[in-house]
Amino acid sequence: MQTMDTNLEVEARRGPLSAAFKPSLAGIGRHELAAVLKRIGVADRQLPMRIGQLWSWLYARGATSFDCMSDVAKELRSALAQAYTLERPQTVSEQLSVDGTRKWLLRLPIRGHEKRAPEIETVYIPEANRGTLCISSQVGCTLSCSFCHTGTQRLVRNLEAPEIVAQILLARDRIGDWPGALAPRDGGLVPEGERKITNIVLMGMGEPLYNFDNVKAAMAVTADGAGLALSRRRITLSTSGVVPEIPRWGKEAGTMLAISLHAVRDELRDRLVPLNKKYPIAELMAACRAYPGLSNARRITFEYVMLKGVNDSLADARALIRLLAGIPAKINLIPFNPWPGTAHECSDWEQIERFAEVVNRAGYASPVRAPRGRDIMAACGQLRSNSLKLSARERKLTGGSERAVRRQDT
Ligand code: SAH
Ligand code: SF4
Repeated sequence: MQTMDTNLEVEARRGPLSAAFKPSLAGIGRHELAAVLKRIGVADRQLPMRIGQLWSWLYARGATSFDCMSDVAKELRSALAQAYTLERPQTVSEQLSVDGTRKWLLRLPIRGHEKRAPEIETVYIPEANRGTLCISSQVGCTLSCSFCHTGTQRLVRNLEAPEIVAQILLARDRIGDWPGALAPRDGGLVPEGERKITNIVLMGMGEPLYNFDNVKAAMAVTADGAGLALSRRRITLSTSGVVPEIPRWGKEAGTMLAISLHAVRDELRDRLVPLNKKYPIAELMAACRAYPGLSNARRITFEYVMLKGVNDSLADARALIRLLAGIPAKINLIPFNPWPGTAHECSDWEQIERFAEVVNRAGYASPVRAPRGRDIMAACGQLRSNSLKLSARERKLTGGSERAVRRQDT
């Protein structure tokens, strides 16, 4: 059975927490939905039909209340509404970048002994021919990659499966990506062409393979053809290299894979991605070569953050090509995205171009990932939901570095 939302577990064991408290079913999996329906008295023989109806309302149509479910019996609707909601996580803020990228800071309900509500960030990146939603898998991260802002926030907790799915629901709500959503002229938010979420990347806060079961359950809901229906080939999990979980993920979840490589020598990778001390490069590469379903049509993406004077020499570029020889791969060079207090600098643009040329000549197409949403701290590695947020000094620092970045981008 999939992992349940903790609120639902508590409720299942003890009954509703209080008269006022109602857990949300947004993001729930099929097994849990069956358990909820049974609990409120739906007969076994009716279950498949009721699950089918609710599933379609929740995930194909984006219902936010039980009222609108016209083909569901009235008594069932009101029984559901008495005990549950379809609420999304609370939106603390929504920021819009000059390039159209949107970032949401979301607040999750307090659980168990938590003193304050955990917060996460989710980012939507519209492009000409697709829209990518970057979702979080943990609140904070246990790993402390030297170049990553999230890594400076300690791990608060793993996200539950419904909390991972709910990021997709909320993003679809906000950009009007459900059938029948309003056009901007009728009060909708986002122009038609920019609406569609076609791809999901697990590249937000956290190390998804350290929250394996919940991420897997969430991707099962995401890929379910009767609901959100995002094909597993359009879902990419990015890992800093949790080697033992890579084959298991391939076998059990079968999404596309991205590896945060960032260095081609153990001595350097140990410093940039400390997890490398546990799972060095040779072991990581062996796991990649054995990734289930790997082929030229299903390549692994290798991410490589460009850090000035650290990993950006042309010797490094050539070593990268040698390291990946024989693996069906894409290479993504990510210009380092600065954050307040970081010791790193982004490589000079000319150096990124020279590095990219070596990669290009070896047959890897369009290797540089254009930075998106830097002005709202929404780019790779800039997410951090700690409510301490930025001090005045930090804000000044970000402003400075962003100006430098914009000059460099042009
Ligand atoms: N924890 C997972 C997924 C989230 S990070 C992982 O590490 O793979 C998504 C990508 O952004 C990773 O490749 C990560 O290494 C990279 N990244 C982190 N900080 C960055 C920064 N400041 N600038 C550019 N990329 C960064
Ligand atoms: Fe965690 Fe990934 Fe950031 Fe490393 S790069 S600290 S694994 S979120």
